[in-house]
Amino acid sequence: MADSRLKRRIPYHLPSIGADEVAAVKEVLRSGWLTTGSKAAQFEKEVAALTMAKYAVAVNSCTSGLHLALLALGVGPGDEVITTPYTFSATGETIVHTGARPVFADVERGGFNIDPGKIAAAITAKTKAIVPVHMAGDPCNMSEIMRLARSHRIGVVEDAAHAIGTWYEGRPVGSIGTLTVFSFYATKNLTTGEGGMVTTDSETTADLMRQLSLHGLSRDAWTRYSAKGSWRYEICELGYKYNLSDIQAAIGLVQLRKFEAMQERRRRLVEAYHEGLAGIPDLILPEERPGTRHAWHLYIIRLGGERPPNQRDDLIEELKDAGIGVSVHFIPLHLHRYYQQAFSYGPGDFPEAERQYRSAISLPLYPTLKLEEVAHICSILRRQLHRTARYRPKRGMVYHDQAHF
Ligand SMILES: *Cc1c(COP(=O)(O)O)cnc(C)c1O
Repeated sequence: MADSRLKRRIPYHLPSIGADEVAAVKEVLRSGWLTTGSKAAQFEKEVAALTMAKYAVAVNSCTSGLHLALLALGVGPGDEVITTPYTFSATGETIVHTGARPVFADVERGGFNIDPGKIAAAITAKTKAIVPVHMAGDPCNMSEIMRLARSHRIGVVEDAAHAIGTWYEGRPVGSIGTLTVFSFYATKNLTTGEGGMVTTDSETTADLMRQLSLHGLSRDAWTRYSAKGSWRYEICELGYKYNLSDIQAAIGLVQLRKFEAMQERRRRLVEAYHEGLAGIPDLILPEERPGTRHAWHLYIIRLGGERPPNQRDDLIEELKDAGIGVSVHFIPLHLHRYYQQAFSYGPGDFPEAERQYRSAISLPLYPTLKLEEVAHICSILRRQLHRTARYRPKRGMVYHDQAHF
């Protein structure tokens, strides 16, 4: 028993890095140019092409990209930015770093993405931007969000950390909002270890972000170490150190060549999960919505119906004991101490987000995952869920869906 468990260890994530990425890094290391240069420029061009955006600015993380995008929209102290509580810390903290107030709007009923109706209700004279998050790679209702933004003359910064490869109504994410920010963090669908990219159709916005990403230096500073460069530079804006190195960009360029194949593999694994988990009572599986292409960054299942309290947490422990790595995306921001202390949010404020959070489990999903491993995960889940499916709450008993905060 113990041995078979050891053999069957399935990690939650493994990066898809091969000999080509290693060779590309070696080439950069030997080239004499390690920081932002021709590889970063080429990476920007190729991501712009993939996402059908006019301009792309490479940055060292999605977090710094979100910060720059908000600054480029002029977001600052006294402003409000509407976003979802159902996201990673980066989405909220970058709003706070600009000096603006994060205003949360709950997710759609039964879903993970921000509800446009709740956005509309949260818009005030102070609202400067909307930051939707395409959870797991499933696009938000962008036609409604863009309509709201246009009618109120506010910007849209898409947190597309999960959404490289996502399409919405015939357009790739990256060419829809005012600005779109991608992540190339180690676990994301396309990785440079750490990295990010901001896309936009505005040249002046792209230029400003590029300048801010390197200490606010004048444009010529980018070439100051090359043959035609000069020692002169000027600090034009209060900047940051957010640029992406050529070492990382070289990894990204190789990943781009493999990207369609990696996405195809994710789709194949998702089909296997769909089949392997079909028909389990009260188990809710993720779906690709009509008119969209899901990037399948995450495969999040949810426990629905009448289930024992804590069943989600117990199931995570059981999967762990069986050697299967799982995760939870995400603990909603308003349930964290910082947001409660700084902005007076609290449990109960966004009931849909809390409901999704309490029922969600992210299963392993990455290109090197094997179909037999998916089958194994499905059979363990099926066994565990059948064992608890007979559970019925005692008549008259009320279960308080208590948050653990
Ligand atoms: C990963 C992630 C980020 C941050 O990406 P980094 O590149 O690590 O800064 C932002 N938003 C969401 C929703 C994420 O999952």
